[in-house]
Amino acid sequence: MRHRWSERAKQLVRPMLYRMFHAQSEVFTCPICAYRGPFKSKRISRSPDLTRPHSKCLGCASNERHRMMYLVIEDLAERYDLSQMSVLHIAPEDCLTTQLRQHFGRYETADLFAPGVDHKEDLQAMSFPDGHYDCIVISRVLTVPPDLDACLNELRRVLPATGGLAIVAETYTHESTQEFGRFINERSREIGLDLLEQLEQRFDRVEQIRSDHYDEKTFQLTNRIHRDGQAHDAYPEPVRHPGLGFRELVAVGHTGPGA
Ligand SMILES: [Zn+2]
Repeated sequence: MRHRWSERAKQLVRPMLYRMFHAQSEVFTCPICAYRGPFKSKRISRSPDLTRPHSKCLGCASNERHRMMYLVIEDLAERYDLSQMSVLHIAPEDCLTTQLRQHFGRYETADLFAPGVDHKEDLQAMSFPDGHYDCIVISRVLTVPPDLDACLNELRRVLPATGGLAIVAETYTHESTQEFGRFINERSREIGLDLLEQLEQRFDRVEQIRSDHYDEKTFQLTNRIHRDGQAHDAYPEPVRHPGLGFRELVAVGHTGPGA
């Protein structure tokens, strides 16, 4: 119990200290936890020197994609009665769990390796019957399994013929997906914009929601990338944020005629 209190105290004190020492820094608001203040920068690698300025919320540890996913899910909750739907959260992110549990009638998690999930599943061949879930939430996972086609087929298969939703968040750093042909840093590929076409082949309708649909400056939804201290923005046009980096893009696949 004492341990838990000291963790809680750290959670409260750390943002206060960070704010004191970064008083001149830009101020953002986290839509997930309502924290307001500077966000923390993250180093991606030392060689090449890559950093992501203003990435991490000091209140809930969310980064750009989490905040974007949160806003998209809140939008969907206004348009659909999620309380009547089941959701499978693949590779579940802690900072989205509470929101998904609150909105959906049934909430379950899956991952191939992470401990503590409801289902240990290989995304290329899931054990669930067809149409088993009404909604799937998946973010930054499709770079990993060797067979991307199989993953996309499975995402569609476990949804119902009508009224299903697949909420897919990936980074589109290329025009075309670049397959590695082997694992590099635990990934099989980097995703390109052609993933959106592949989703359109499988779903009756695919919504593309970009972070500029929201107040991306207040919520800090742009993946700001610095290479050797300079802003890097050489990304495909639909997601490129000139002078900053690239925008979040969430695809929502719908099933059913007239979806
Ligand atoms: Zn937060």
